[in-house]
Amino acid sequence: MIRLNDITTQILSYHPKADLNLVEKAYVYSAKVHQGQVRLSGEPYLSHPLEVAFTLARMKMDVISVVAGLLHDTLEDTNAQLPDIERLFGREAANIVNGVTKISKIQFTNHEERQAENIRKMILAMATDIRVIMVKLADRLHNMKTLGFQSPEKQNTISRETLEIYAPLAGRLGIYWVKSMLEDLCLYYLEPEIYEKIKTETAQRRGAREKYIRDVKVLLDKKFRESGIQATIKGRQKHLYSIYQKMKDQNLTVNQVYDNLALRVIVDSVKQCYEILGLIHAMWKPIPGKFTDYISLPKANMYQSLHTKVVGPMGQRMEVQIRTWQMDKVAEEGIAAHWKYKEGEVASKTDESQFSWLRRLLEWQKDLHDPKEFLDTVRMDLFQNEVYVFTPKGEVKEFPKGATPVDFAYSIHTDIGNKCTGARVKGKLVPLRYQLNNGDIVEIITSNKQHPSKDWLDFVKTPRAKTKIRHWVKEQERDQSVELGKDILERALAKFGIRFSNILKSEEMLSISKDLSLHSLEDLFANIGYGKLSANQIVGRLTSKMGMDEEKPLGIVDKVVSRMKRKKPPHGIKVTGLDDILVRFANCCHPLPGEPVIGYITHGRGVTIHKQDCRHIADSDPDRLVEITWDPPKEDVYLSHLKVTTVDKKGILADMSAIIAQKNANIVQADVRTTTDKKGICQFSLEVEDYKQLQDIIGALKKLRDVLFVERI
Ligand code: MN
Repeated sequence: MIRLNDITTQILSYHPKADLNLVEKAYVYSAKVHQGQVRLSGEPYLSHPLEVAFTLARMKMDVISVVAGLLHDTLEDTNAQLPDIERLFGREAANIVNGVTKISKIQFTNHEERQAENIRKMILAMATDIRVIMVKLADRLHNMKTLGFQSPEKQNTISRETLEIYAPLAGRLGIYWVKSMLEDLCLYYLEPEIYEKIKTETAQRRGAREKYIRDVKVLLDKKFRESGIQATIKGRQKHLYSIYQKMKDQNLTVNQVYDNLALRVIVDSVKQCYEILGLIHAMWKPIPGKFTDYISLPKANMYQSLHTKVVGPMGQRMEVQIRTWQMDKVAEEGIAAHWKYKEGEVASKTDESQFSWLRRLLEWQKDLHDPKEFLDTVRMDLFQNEVYVFTPKGEVKEFPKGATPVDFAYSIHTDIGNKCTGARVKGKLVPLRYQLNNGDIVEIITSNKQHPSKDWLDFVKTPRAKTKIRHWVKEQERDQSVELGKDILERALAKFGIRFSNILKSEEMLSISKDLSLHSLEDLFANIGYGKLSANQIVGRLTSKMGMDEEKPLGIVDKVVSRMKRKKPPHGIKVTGLDDILVRFANCCHPLPGEPVIGYITHGRGVTIHKQDCRHIADSDPDRLVEITWDPPKEDVYLSHLKVTTVDKKGILADMSAIIAQKNANIVQADVRTTTDKKGICQFSLEVEDYKQLQDIIGALKKLRDVLFVERI
């Protein structure tokens, strides 16, 4: 079992001035809270955080990371609380422990290959501090080493997850020794027979291989000395998993994987790298297409080297890597190597990888000398613009930050998006505007009554959702325009006594739409509705095709209008001839109920109601004006009876009738008789809307000179 002393000694080896008090304190705390817990191996639980902390020290991480390694399981497995950790060990350590705990809680149930990259990105996005990933990798490494104590099912699941998610993450961060160890452990659990075979066969060849490397080294040393270059030559065995991969990819047996040995030449300068390359290519035949210059084009994780393959002295294929000591350090330690650069080599501008933050790190740390200060600046801004969420089936989906359930719904299917009314996230209902968080499990709720709204465009983030919503809105407007166009045309036709239904599918209409290069009658109506075509224009073409005289409107307008009036009034007002149409009041003249108004058919946005004397209406297309009456219409009138006593005089009835008509009341019945004393008695039955109207009428009648009395009866 690793002891505290092993960890502190390791830290001091690369960071002699490290303050180890916090490490000791974390050790004591971790021992206390994990007390009594045991691993499946039977070892005290504390052995695990100690191993993790030691691995972090081997990765040459800073003190805070090692502290976080000691504490990484305390939130999940003990009574320790986040505020305790923060109070005792500071905010940074607490954040790292919290980050590791969060990642550990995520269940990766879907292991399709295409999902792996998204899961890796999600982990990176969830870690606000790169050290969270380092602790997680160290944690996973020890769990893999002790995987033998788990059930076969768990061995399989954890190994697959490690192979798909964590080993590539280690590679991406450039910590190849962790990547190789993880991969070999995974191979051991996933393909035990192949693992044993490769291991045995490479071991059998160890003697031959070592002799071969010695021979090659002698040849190279001699050559390098002649050229005056000082170089260190290392021979190494490729790790088992990479041999396995090669066997699988190229369908080879272990013994056919010739280049399972590789040579590494390390020199002082970049210039010497290329000189060495020239020397090697002169000695042995290079294999075409196998040279890669990672010096001028570094890998995303800053890895630099020259890679080449040659046919070696005994006809064996051999891989050679050439690099400087600095490059070697980066290759061995990965991101940790950047912690302590003294004079960083600025990366090439051609590297357009998503790891541009690493480049920035290199540039920053020219001004930073303290590793602590450097680490403070290492905040993960990688993938900060993305958010990763799960479907209920465990599939990971990537969205731009700020994306909503609507974006999620459209990413599944257009119909789901169109009918999305909300979502359930971790079991809780959230509104459409909810912003998705990393790791959310999102379940969309739909309703057949729902449909997209223009407002959604204000908050959706994905181009797909935007396009789909716009498309839907446009379709709706088109449908509305088709209806409007039909109505406008119908009214225009009515003026000429042409019944719309009679000509709707006539050859004349079809030929008109053909003449106008329109695909269908629907298009024609839509164009009228949008205002691109005028109805009169169509009527003109039609009448001329039908051989009619368009100057002679027939007198059945009233008939048509009366038919239209039977349609239901929408929204408290009546729009003549237009059924169930969107109505809104104009902002220019603010008509009040009861005022004389007129409707204007807009392009795709329904009917706007203006005052009849509104100046905007004066200049507008008369074809688009519709008659508007207020609801409640005339049916809601009340019968009222008046008795008017007058001087008996010719014409008095006509005068009274005119006044009543002026006041917009309808005379249902009128009885007139003359008395013997030369007075006239008139009894009216009137339809009035309200009391006020009646009072107006009474007042007006009384003002007539010959009227003596007016009374209600
Ligand atoms: Mn752990």
